[in-house]
Formats: sequence, C-alpha cells, structure tokens
Amino acid sequence: MLQFSESAHAARSPGRLVPLRFRQVADDVVLLTSHFGDWVFVSPQELSTLYQGELPTELEEKLAERNFIVDRLDRRALADRLSRKRRFLRFGPNLHILVVTLRCNETCVYCHASRADMDAVDTDMSPQTAERCIDLALQSTSGRLTFEFQGGEPLVNFPVMQHAIEYATEKNRAYGKEIEFTLVSNLALLDDAKLDYLVENKVQICTSVDGPEKLHNKQRVLPSDNAFQRAARGIERINARYLALGLDPVLYHVEALPTITRAALDYPKELVDTFVSLGCHSIFLRPVDPFGFAGKTQDKIEYDRKRYHEFYRSAVDYILERNLAGTRVLERYAAIFLTKILTGDDPNFLDLRSPGGAGIGQLTYNYDGSIYTSDEGRMLRETGDETFRIGHVSTARYRELMLSDTVRSLVLASNLDAQPDCVTCTYNPYCGNKPEHSYRTQGSIFGRTRESDICAVHKGIQDYLFGKLAENRPEIVDVFRRWTTVREREHYLQGGATAS
Ligand code: SF4
Repeated sequence: MLQFSESAHAARSPGRLVPLRFRQVADDVVLLTSHFGDWVFVSPQELSTLYQGELPTELEEKLAERNFIVDRLDRRALADRLSRKRRFLRFGPNLHILVVTLRCNETCVYCHASRADMDAVDTDMSPQTAERCIDLALQSTSGRLTFEFQGGEPLVNFPVMQHAIEYATEKNRAYGKEIEFTLVSNLALLDDAKLDYLVENKVQICTSVDGPEKLHNKQRVLPSDNAFQRAARGIERINARYLALGLDPVLYHVEALPTITRAALDYPKELVDTFVSLGCHSIFLRPVDPFGFAGKTQDKIEYDRKRYHEFYRSAVDYILERNLAGTRVLERYAAIFLTKILTGDDPNFLDLRSPGGAGIGQLTYNYDGSIYTSDEGRMLRETGDETFRIGHVSTARYRELMLSDTVRSLVLASNLDAQPDCVTCTYNPYCGNKPEHSYRTQGSIFGRTRESDICAVHKGIQDYLFGKLAENRPEIVDVFRRWTTVREREHYLQGGATAS
C-alpha cells in the first residue's frame, strides 16, 4: 500500500516535475494526473523514488511522454489543447429547456418536476410565453441551440410545443444558428398524428425507462394502463420510422434514461438487458436526485452511495461483457469521463465540466415565463425556493441574465480549481460538480465536497474506470475508446450553414 496520503503537492524531484496529484487505483498501481489532464500509471516504488528527489532515466522518459517534466513540455501544444478543451467558455448557453406544462398523466415515485394533475391547466405555457422564450434564447451567443421540451409531460400541451418549433424555425432564419429540438416524454400519449409531426420536424425523442417492466411500473404509475408497455411500444414505433427514412439505427433511435432508485439496485443486469432489448445503445446510470417529490419520498427511494458503486460496477462490468460479445451499448457517465481521460477533449456535458453549465451553458424557462439557471433551479421553485430564478421572459435582457449575481456565483461555485477538496483531487481535470445540488443538500452552493453524494458518485466511477485501465486489457481499452467516438447526428440539425 501507498505510504503517502493523496496529495496535490509536487513530488520533490529536483524541480523538474509539473504540479501533480496522485491516487492509488489498484494494487501496485498509482495514478498521477496533471492540471493539463495528462495521466500516467506508476508503481508505488516509482512514486517513492520521485519523492526522494530522484528521476531515473526510464521513469523520466515515461513521464516526459505524458507532459510531466517541466523542461520538456511543448507549451504551445499544451496551450492549444487547453484552449480547445475549454472552448465551451466562449459559447454561451446552448441548452434551452422549455417547461411547456407541469401536467402529467403518470405519477412517478421520484418526480423531480413536482408534476401537476391533468386538470391543472394553469400550469400550461401559453403560445405568447413560448415565443418570448424563443426570442430570448436566440439572443444567446452560442451558434448552436438545443430547445428541449420538458414537463410534466410535454405531449399534454402539444399545440404549444408545435407553435414553439414553428416560431423558432421561422425566427431563426434571421439568425442562421444551428438549432435542434428535443422532446423528453413518457410516450404514453404518442398517437399517429403527433408521431408524424415529430418525425417530419426532426424532433429528437428521449424517454424514461427505469428497468424491467415490473420495476418500471412500480416506480412510474400510469393509471389504468401499463407505463412500460406504452413506453416500449412508443420506442418501437419511433425507431421503425427512423429505419423507414433510411437512418442508421446505431445513430438514430430513441434514447431512454433510467433513474436509479433503491429498488433498482438489485437489478443491474436486468436493467442492461431491458435497455438492449428496447434497441437503446446508451444507458445513463443516474442516481436519483433530491429534487421535487424525491425530497419527500427519500426514506423509500434513497440509498448509501456505496451501494450505488456496487450497482454501477456490476452494471458496467456486464455492459462490457455484452460489448465483448458483440452488442453495441455504452454507459453514458463512463463515456463522458473517458472522453476527457482518453482524448483530452471535453464533450461539454453541462453537469460534468468546470465551470459547470448553470446559466452560462443552459437556461430553463418555466411554464409561466420565469427563467432559471438550470432545470434543477426550476425544480426548487416548485418546492417554494426561488434562489435560482434570474428573470422573466417579458422583461429579461440576455446580457443582464449572463452578468447577474446568481449566474456569476454559480460559475465560481462550480469552478473545481476554487473548491476545497476538488482543487487537490486527482480527478479534478475530468470532473464537475452541481452547485444547486450542494445548495439543496447542504444549504450552500459551495457545499462540503467530501460529504457530497455527487462527489462520491463521481469519485467512485473514476476509481472504477482507472481501475479498468490499470488492468491494461486491450479489448477493454478498445471498447472504452469506441465509447469516446462522437458521431454527429446531422439529421436533427436545422438552420445554420451545415444543417441538412
Ligand atoms: S467532485 Fe469529488 S471526485 Fe470530482 S474533483 Fe471534486 S473532490 Fe474530486
């Protein structure tokens, strides 16, 4: 075992090492990472040698290759790489979430959105409010915008969603941005007319599947119907339409998201099998969040994050097994981390970057036109907390929103180089935090990272991934590399110069 505690201090080799952090990730394997995001495995003996101020030639060559030796750095190349990796800082908000209604036909045990009953029409967004949301979103400095329709169940207020799509498409002619539309739906209300419209207008469709049928139906209740069967049938019909259009099914298919509650922890393999059987190629093993109804039902659905780690390891081990047997399926957390670890690039996933995406990467527009820094921010509003409200579409100015105290505070709070614990953490170059989560669970956007569930999840996943990389099995590394390959889904892109 290591004789040193994990640390951010540079080893005392004669002033030639860049500042580094280290962590033991397997028996006899220590991971070193640098601020640039480079990493290398060494043995505990080699680390000890470095600490004694020695740098044998063989070790020097290994470290120089990974940019750990100060006087052998290609500074220009490193500066270019860092600038590229953080290029999202020059974008502005690209994700614009429109909550077109809080009404929902399902009742989920963890509902983060605090759904409203089907007769609560006062929670429907009006066409005029939708227009003002689009007007504001188009002012973003980002050249690409994603409009994501959420609820409640967005299909309940389908006419306003249609209006928003048509208004955005028309208005964007003057802006020339690349835009795409995404619907997050339980699919139970998907009829032929809606399906025709969504496919014709190239709306990307995502749904929720919590695992095998019994588990899904227990967590997502659809009165007098079978929620799982409705979602499965919807996925099947949409995928069939993509196939009929001649689109590559590996790239174009419905993605489903699970929410991992306590009840799901016993079914890692069954969950993976369910997703594969539904034609999904990606599984995002997200733990339940403490927002909305999940805050009230946590006695039943929450769990210790150590249990989550066991679940995650079993599920991803099984996903790897299925890949080695020829099935193309990935785990989304792993793909995001591995893109940063193996390619040095950043996929701009808003919850896993530094600084995070609240405000500067995304805005959420509630049904009444109130603007929030993120979806989590508006979820808190439904429990009476307006901390993350930054304006209203009838009066807001884009520049004022971006420069608001709330947005600037969130940028600071999600900068890992300014967070105690994160600043010294070996995984700092690949990680991200969520200030709204810290606020909800610990009462401050800065939070206490070492007691944070989010940190526990991120650390556990990265321990797992680096542990796998330390095994040095070429077939596993090949699968991991495949997970980092991003293929543009151009079919969904509209407007702009490159859209089809
Ligand atoms: S959130 Fe946790 S795992 Fe991530 S950088 Fe911070 S301390 Fe490390």
